[in-house]
Amino acid sequence: MTDNYKISLALLAKILQEENDEHWANWMLEDIKLWEKDKSVEHHLHAYGGMGSFNDVVIGDNDNEGIWKGKIFEYLQALAYSLAKGNFLETILETFSNPHRVNEISGWRCRNCGDARMTDREINLFITNYFVPKFFVKYVQEDRLKEVLDICKLIDSEEVIGKKSQLKSLIQEANIILNPDDNWLWNCPKCGSSEVCVYRWVVLGDDEELVEGEDNLSYRE
Ligand SMILES: [Zn+2]
Repeated sequence: MTDNYKISLALLAKILQEENDEHWANWMLEDIKLWEKDKSVEHHLHAYGGMGSFNDVVIGDNDNEGIWKGKIFEYLQALAYSLAKGNFLETILETFSNPHRVNEISGWRCRNCGDARMTDREINLFITNYFVPKFFVKYVQEDRLKEVLDICKLIDSEEVIGKKSQLKSLIQEANIILNPDDNWLWNCPKCGSSEVCVYRWVVLGDDEELVEGEDNLSYRE
């Protein structure tokens, strides 16, 4: 049977090495050794919880590849942790199939004039939230978990490209401007007001509609 726990640890170590995080990379390598020796998971479980723990490690830059890498890292952590906890693989994949708030996308909105903006970063975050858990389920089921680190292949896959362009059309139809950079917006580029806030939208159905989230601050139209 495939040892998905060991594979997750090895992939985590690989990412950490790429990011020059020697401390946690070595921790994962130690976890592999202990697992191979007597199937012990205690050391790995000790990595989580508390300040400066393994949960707090953030991976990847703000570019598209970095965002994918960060999200894949999160899911590898979740997989390794849950397997170490003794959860059944089927149960874990079930959780991955129903991720929380997967249809939400954030941007900015001016509370004075209603001007709405989104950045490429937010779109990429939405796309990874949507696809990474799906790829995990698929790859584990097809016994090729190792391939989740082939990030360029995932980014360039037909389904990802298709979804992204569909999403961009929805954004344009909703009169949301695609902001060229993601520096914090202190003032509205349209009216100059400082009442710019973070705003959430929800994608409904199979990319059929983009609607405003329910927990947003109000704005004057
Ligand atoms: Zn404005």
